[in-house]
Amino acid sequence: MKELDVLVIGGGPAGINAAQILSNNGFTVLLVDEGYKLGGQLLKQTHKFFGSKEHFAGCRGIDIPSKFPLDKVEILLKSTVVGLYNDGVATIVTEDKFYTKVKSKGIVVATGAQEKFLPFIGNDLPGVYGAGAVQTLMNSEGILPGEKVLMVGAGNIGLIVSYQLLQAGVKVVAVLDAAPQIGGYLVHASKIARAGVPILTSHTIVAAYGKDKVEEAEIAKIDENWNIVKGSNRKVEVDTICLSVGLSPVNDLLWHRGCEMVLIPELGGYVPKRNKFLETTVENLFVAGDVCGVEEASSAMVEGKLAGLALSRNLGSLGLEYEIYKTIKNLEILRKGEVGEKIRRGLKKLGGGD
Ligand SMILES: Cc1cc2nc3c(=O)[nH]c(=O)nc-3n(C[C@H](O)[C@H](O)[C@H](O)COP(=O)(O)OP(=O)(O)OC[C@H]3O[C@@H](n4cnc5c(N)ncnc54)[C@H](O)[C@@H]3O)c2cc1C
Repeated sequence: MKELDVLVIGGGPAGINAAQILSNNGFTVLLVDEGYKLGGQLLKQTHKFFGSKEHFAGCRGIDIPSKFPLDKVEILLKSTVVGLYNDGVATIVTEDKFYTKVKSKGIVVATGAQEKFLPFIGNDLPGVYGAGAVQTLMNSEGILPGEKVLMVGAGNIGLIVSYQLLQAGVKVVAVLDAAPQIGGYLVHASKIARAGVPILTSHTIVAAYGKDKVEEAEIAKIDENWNIVKGSNRKVEVDTICLSVGLSPVNDLLWHRGCEMVLIPELGGYVPKRNKFLETTVENLFVAGDVCGVEEASSAMVEGKLAGLALSRNLGSLGLEYEIYKTIKNLEILRKGEVGEKIRRGLKKLGGGD
């Protein structure tokens, strides 16, 4: 059994920040990630970030992980944490074999989020992808998913991935959204509209057809009660259907360890109950990033920092009060205004915060 101070699970923006703070405070830290590189979702984000300089606005997502040197952190890649037990032990699988059991005094779970899917006829045909999967294929692996794409979902991810498909020379036949307006930022929608891609609001996908893979998609208009408008069905010729219909927290390890979980749709699904320092109902088990509620890389980074500081304090570091206070304020600032409205509503429902 390997023993150390802290296990950080997930090497996206949240986990990297938590690991860096904890190791800077003198703790031995093991950072584990399934991927072959640290960075999580950032590894496929070739676009420039919005927001403030402090949160890497103007920087491409792929360039952000290297801004956090982790010299003192032990890093284990291509490895999955598969269990968290009551005695503080975690089990990790590395490349098909049990690597080790790890016992730590504290844990930060920063496992991020996964894509939601849609039920429709033919959704199991090859050629139906999550938008995030397409982004990984294109931007991380250099592989195009197809030649003619239908994007389902006009939130930021659907719009950004549509634009990146166009940049890669792929035809985006249309972007659909069931809502009466687009959910993403206007700036992203305008870019693809200028390129001639129709954005069809109040529309849905009904079916995908093809012999061995997607050859056609059937789409239809929907009314204000989300029922299909009779006679509005039509077929479009595509070889790829990309679903961008939301993300939900990757929370399996929290369920396994017995953390109290609450269903909050505004935060993406079941999220852990936690105090304002991000400590769950299990002592010294902290959470940060999308696993707490689907949000953005900027807030994931600040949450990672907060979890790292607060866990350091629990484990005996002194003099962190002001830094913790400032970090909580920073999170509040990030969530101000229209953009943070849904998250604020979700957090209010979650309650606690003390
Ligand atoms: C297309 C797209 C565009 C985006 N654009 C922006 C933007 O412009 N600005 C912005 O601020 N945000 C943006 N975001 C959101 C942002 O990327 C996420 O909010 C952020 O990456 C969340 O960080 P995280 O550390 O919580 O999780 P992630 O980045 O998802 O990292 C989680 C990590 O945990 C690992 N993991 C999961 N389970 C295990 C396990 N059991 N064992 C080991 N490892 C595990 C995964 O491999 C992954 O590396 C975008 C997201 C997408 C998909």
